Amino acid sequence: MSAAIIDGKVISEQIKSEVRIGAESFIRERGIPPGLAFILVGENPSSQVYVRSKGKACAELGYYSVTETLPADISEESLLRCISRFNADRRIHGILVQLPLPPHLHEQTIIEAIAPDKDVDGFHPVNVGRLVLGEPCFRPCTPAGIQELLLRSGNDPGGKHVVVVGRSNIVGKPIANILLQKQRGANAVVTIAHTGAHDLLPYLRSADILIAAIGRPKAIRGESLKPGCVVIDVGINRIPDSTAKNGTRLVGDVDFDSAVQVASAITPVPGGVGLMTIAMLMKNTLDAAKALVIPPSTGLASG
Ligand code: NAP
Repeated sequence: MSAAIIDGKVISEQIKSEVRIGAESFIRERGIPPGLAFILVGENPSSQVYVRSKGKACAELGYYSVTETLPADISEESLLRCISRFNADRRIHGILVQLPLPPHLHEQTIIEAIAPDKDVDGFHPVNVGRLVLGEPCFRPCTPAGIQELLLRSGNDPGGKHVVVVGRSNIVGKPIANILLQKQRGANAVVTIAHTGAHDLLPYLRSADILIAAIGRPKAIRGESLKPGCVVIDVGINRIPDSTAKNGTRLVGDVDFDSAVQVASAITPVPGGVGLMTIAMLMKNTLDAAKALVIPPSTGLASG
């Protein structure tokens, strides 16, 4: 058996075209583009690449975007001041502080300074709490993208046993919370496994849908999977590869070559989950703008 490939490129492009249509009518009706502010602290090369790609996606969709680049030794107070400026800026509907931050800055304090209605990353405790409660909220982009990949590839998680390996606040916990809700497109029986598990195998073997988010290259092999399962590989790990131009290549947390023989569907790395994050960020930003900017026809002032 060889699994079907769940193509993140095709699905993320579908989502971006839907967002483009929504953004065009938003701009027509409300007279301003959705606006997104990026705050980049320090010179982490990966963070610079991520912010550049997100800015490029904004430009493609006609969004207004600004990037505030701040020195690595900025004080917490100055960073908080920058966030509060964007909180008050009516052209800005989403604020994204690129993580990780330098160690002297307390990440949670910074996240909590973002106005919850501009928290398009979905990391503010108000949005986290609403997600757990099953209330409308900004959902973190990577997990929201995983749900879209499942649904748009015909793998509705309803009634399935989903095993999430990894319990980070940005992937493992939110995807578990999204998929366990008693809602359409969710309603799964969810298990979260992590390093506290004495033996991962029984969990892997019982997964109808496996979501691997551990950050360990090729750690999960096909032999451990339930035949016919669906594999969503969130991992992005760079490993040495002497045949590659730059001497490295990206691999997931799942060993693709063995898993593709056992699963019924699988996301590749690259080309899977990674491409969904920006598409969902663009969608969250449009949703934020829709909620914040009152259409002129209502006669109310915009917020
Ligand atoms: P993280 O914060 O390092 O969390 C990793 C989680 O995996 C932890 O909960 C850890 O358990 C668990 N874990 C590690 N090794 C394990 C093992 N051998 N068995 C069972 N559990 C294990 O990582 P993250 O931020 O969630 O990211 C995970 C991966 O996804 C990384 O490769 C990252 O680059 C990638 N990622 C991709 C995207 C994207 O595609 N856009 C976005 C975010 C992350 P403990 O809690 O017990 O330590």
